[in-house]
Amino acid sequence: MLVGIDDTDSPRGMCTSYLGAVLVRRLERSGIRVLETRLIRLNPNVVYKTRGNAAVCIAAEGEPETAFAAACGCVEDLADLAAPETNPGVAVCTEPPPPAFYYRALRDFCEISEAIDLLDAIGALYRGYKNRRGLIGATAAAASVLPDATYELLAYRRRECLGTPRQVDRTSVFLADELTYPHTWDSVDRANDVVVCVPHTPDPVLFGIRGESPEWVRRAREYIRSEEPLCEQVFRTNQGTDAHLMQGGIGGLLEGRSYAVRGTVAGRPETGPGGHVSVVIAGASGTARCMAYEPTKGFRDVVRALLPGDEVVAVGSYKGGSINLEKICVGRLATVPAVRPPLCVACGRRMTSAGRGKGYKCRICRMRAREPEYVYPERSLRPGWYEVPPSARRHLAKPLVRGDPPWCRTGGGGISFLS
Ligand code: ATP
Repeated sequence: MLVGIDDTDSPRGMCTSYLGAVLVRRLERSGIRVLETRLIRLNPNVVYKTRGNAAVCIAAEGEPETAFAAACGCVEDLADLAAPETNPGVAVCTEPPPPAFYYRALRDFCEISEAIDLLDAIGALYRGYKNRRGLIGATAAAASVLPDATYELLAYRRRECLGTPRQVDRTSVFLADELTYPHTWDSVDRANDVVVCVPHTPDPVLFGIRGESPEWVRRAREYIRSEEPLCEQVFRTNQGTDAHLMQGGIGGLLEGRSYAVRGTVAGRPETGPGGHVSVVIAGASGTARCMAYEPTKGFRDVVRALLPGDEVVAVGSYKGGSINLEKICVGRLATVPAVRPPLCVACGRRMTSAGRGKGYKCRICRMRAREPEYVYPERSLRPGWYEVPPSARRHLAKPLVRGDPPWCRTGGGGISFLS
């Protein structure tokens, strides 16, 4: 059976993954065998989310009624039910809901009634609290399929520590990263000299280590010195897989969805107030603005180095009419030269314009020339993929250390999408 849970936290505390970790232990105590614990990220653009739009699914063997009672018990004991924005959902399914629902919740927007219809159709045990919105995430988590998966080890804080600053030794986190990267990633952001895996939000997470296997995240964890955690849980997850992306065409982008979009840089990048950088790209049916916000730090220099005519793939969520860049592929670089008057072949001085359409003349020796000098600017950019730093990474975004996106080919012939 699959036990889906969502929407148990609020901005002032709790975390659905923590509730999942507690439920794993309660299920095991009641004789249920837990096979897998999944942390599933859904559409990052959903307005109802508290932080990272996460839901949990526990695959287990045993009595569905027992699991359902345990899951509801956890929600009633731990969820922040008093918070207006907390609307938990619990679903126990003996057959998985259709994966199409997972993909819609991941890439699009769903209605509560759709989740309920699906749960009814498969005879699931379910309960939605308050406005029942959590049933969307609970159903999507139970429906999840992970053709690509990563792992996260989450350590949770003891009750008496909640509300106090987290005690995690910074040097030990950098060491854990040094000794396990690239098998683990995003524990630290070396370029910006910050620890990324320790949150600053008022929830029970002490730290989270992301990596390619349960063994690697556990190995990294062994190096970390911190306050004594309450418990730890390794989740299989869709984080770091780009599962939220769809291939999109400029002119057809829908608000709140995430895309990979091919285009040609249509103007000079601009740095606006707050240090946010924008650049317009053009396709067959219009233009789209791409944004690299201030928190993306050095990534903005990549965007600033683009020139009109560069061929790119812009990757990110389409929000407020802009693509908020998570990464960008630079394909063929523009070879549009700058034009300036040539040097005089007689005296070696720079000539001046002889007037519109009249070529150039030397003011010293009166020589004339028709053709200008073409200057090809030295480009700092090389074709390839560039990404935001770990401190600005979205949960679902695939770090380049896991490999370039397999659906995109770059080369002498430019960029092409593989279906
Ligand atoms: P945490 O990461 O700590 O679990 P959160 O950021 O996941 O918090 P939730 O409290 O779970 O936020 O709120 C997200 C709400 O949005 C849930 O009720 C979930 O069912 C709902 N939801 C998730 N994805 C979609 C979607 N694609 N369309 C509509 N509603 C969604």
